[in-house]
Amino acid sequence: MTAAVEQNGFGRNSRTMLRRLRDVMADTRAPQERLDSITSIIGADMAAEVCSIYVRRSDNLLELCSTEGLNKDAVHRTLMHFGEGLVGDIAARAQSLALSDAQSHPKFAYFPETGEEIYQSLAGVPVMRADRVLGVLVVQNRSRRQYSDEEIETLETFAMVLAELLANGVLDGQENKHDAPVRLAGQSVAPGVGIGIAHFHRPSTAIRRVVADNPAIEKERLDNAMQSVRSRIDTLLSAPDLAEAGEHRDVLETFRMIAHDRGWLTRMNDAIDNGLTAEAAVQRSRADMRARLGSVQNPYLRERLADFEDLTNRLLAQLADEEENGDTAGTIDDDQPYIVVARSMGPAELLDYDRTNLAGLVLEEGSATAHVAIVARALDIPVLGNIPGLLSEVNPGDHLIIDADNGQVLLRPTEDVQDSFHAGLRARAETKARYQALRDQPARTLDGVDISLLLNVGLMFDLQQLDATGAEGIGLYRTEIPFMVRRDIPDVSQQTDVYRRVLDAAGGRPVTFRTLDAGGDKNIQAFDHDPGDNPALGWRSIRISVDHPSLLRNQIRAILRAAAGAPVDLMFPMVSTVGEFDAARSILDRELERALRLGEVLPSKLRLGSMLEVPSLAWQLPEILRRVDFLSVGSNDLQQFFFAADRGDQRVTHRYDAVSVPFLRLLRNISNACKKHDKPLTLCGEMAGSRIGAMALVGIGYHRLSMAAASIGPVKETIRSLNYNDLQILMSNLLETREGRLVENLKAFARDHQVPA
Ligand code: PEP
Ligand code: MG
Repeated sequence: MTAAVEQNGFGRNSRTMLRRLRDVMADTRAPQERLDSITSIIGADMAAEVCSIYVRRSDNLLELCSTEGLNKDAVHRTLMHFGEGLVGDIAARAQSLALSDAQSHPKFAYFPETGEEIYQSLAGVPVMRADRVLGVLVVQNRSRRQYSDEEIETLETFAMVLAELLANGVLDGQENKHDAPVRLAGQSVAPGVGIGIAHFHRPSTAIRRVVADNPAIEKERLDNAMQSVRSRIDTLLSAPDLAEAGEHRDVLETFRMIAHDRGWLTRMNDAIDNGLTAEAAVQRSRADMRARLGSVQNPYLRERLADFEDLTNRLLAQLADEEENGDTAGTIDDDQPYIVVARSMGPAELLDYDRTNLAGLVLEEGSATAHVAIVARALDIPVLGNIPGLLSEVNPGDHLIIDADNGQVLLRPTEDVQDSFHAGLRARAETKARYQALRDQPARTLDGVDISLLLNVGLMFDLQQLDATGAEGIGLYRTEIPFMVRRDIPDVSQQTDVYRRVLDAAGGRPVTFRTLDAGGDKNIQAFDHDPGDNPALGWRSIRISVDHPSLLRNQIRAILRAAAGAPVDLMFPMVSTVGEFDAARSILDRELERALRLGEVLPSKLRLGSMLEVPSLAWQLPEILRRVDFLSVGSNDLQQFFFAADRGDQRVTHRYDAVSVPFLRLLRNISNACKKHDKPLTLCGEMAGSRIGAMALVGIGYHRLSMAAASIGPVKETIRSLNYNDLQILMSNLLETREGRLVENLKAFARDHQVPA
């Protein structure tokens, strides 16, 4: 073999073998016979003692449908669930697996009828078509064999061929349809609700030809397809509803750059030189990318993988029908509302869909930081992500209800449920109208105490909510968001632009900029530092800022420039000691001196604050309060450090409650100290945005609450129906006489006093 051939793991023998597989697929024997021929051809080619094909059946069962090497009596008898045993694990994760000592793997499960205990090593790959796992192809050896990457790649290529056979329904009874209503839980990625018909994303990525004889023709096809895809992307990105500046533009421009990546094109051309068709070369490079990045957790790399997946699908669609657009949306049958169903999605893929009837997007894997979410929010499309089992539960054409506000998707809802959903939509519209009517009313209690309701802002899109909600200003502008969606660190002038847009949108309402809060749960792509074993407690936030003064300096410079001649508030995140605050402050002082020296226009008023989100600062209150103009409690982090419970870990987040005696006592101490030192206090964590949380906070002296846009209406409604004096007495009693959670006590109070909660 030549070096190039070795590199792609695909030799002359395999090419011959692929032709044989193709012949088997085309012949007219019974499906079972053809499948058996395939297992024996692959087993021989891979020098494996066992080769087996497991096919997906209804209810996520995998059935052994053909084997060379295992006990033949087990065929059609051995069944396993997705996730069960090594084969089930490959299907559930849709990822290849190679083990030299399979039996010591924790997922190993023994199926006695197969006689497989004598085989030590195992390599398996999912058989996939259009994102859907159709089965698993497995080889096994008696010895402890180390399967090479090239061998796995070859197996993956065979799986591509096999996918065609399975997708054409050669095995009767494959995949019975689900028909019962099901509710699946997920994570709200972009808010909203919708109802529509399930449309599977990328239905057309099937590959018909794998082997080619004329590389020149294939390269030309690839080149043409690439040109078409690039120009299609240019068209998509020029859509008028995307024109406005915002993070979604950064996300989409990065995507455009990846479409011009030369290394990627070179790798695909190399694969063509080794005998693959253009589409097989595209698929091959996708498999390489998945193998390299499939299991990484780094959100930046995961987004890159999603971008490559998107481009791969475009190229495949383009190659499949060289006359067509090369988009990945597939055909949407009629003009009914529809909901797109996918494993994950790149930001540009969403743009392929006609937005008139697009009612939502449900993703098996996507999370709130996914780039598609940023684009979806800019377009006001509800998205629910992180829904295990989604792809296996939905049938194309099912009715779906997406309820991203409550983290759920309903599959095949009954007529009754659909009716109540429509009733819910009407009620929602009424509630919205009620909040709308409160927009210009103050958040004033019945006995005349004014509470300031402010907005938490991250994305540019959130800025529109200032006018929509009637918030008094921006209580927390999270500056890391523009850093998170880019490949590089924005320079001073780019940052100035962003901050200026924020101040312009605020139109004179106060804005509090929080300096960079990198690390922990907020991954900045441009510095790929080692997060350590415990990222929440690691080198993050202000710790990075004081160790890299240039970062903070540039940011402060940009904020000062953006706010020239206008008032602005600035605060540092994650302050643990007053010394740390002083270090950050001296960087600010130097920037102010520099600006003065250069004759730059300074903000008309600059107030400097600190966040309190590390418990240690609550034991330095007199010291910190002497130094700051205001304090802002970040209850999300404060709560996680107070209870030692990771805010992102679902197994522990709901165990401890912010509205509970110990946490509220801490918050009350902070509020008392601020009163004593006459320093304004805000709370900007999630608890401020829940009606009950806000009630508790108001009752212990918090008069400035900063929250997400959707919370302003409900919290204002609650505050306007409260008597402040009664609430203070209640909280003071509860904190003296109770222990543990107080949510029920507050709900009872609300019921007794006709307060909506
Ligand atoms: C907090 O920790 O409460 C907070 C407001 O900051 P973030 O959620 O951005 O960490
Ligand atoms: Mg925080």
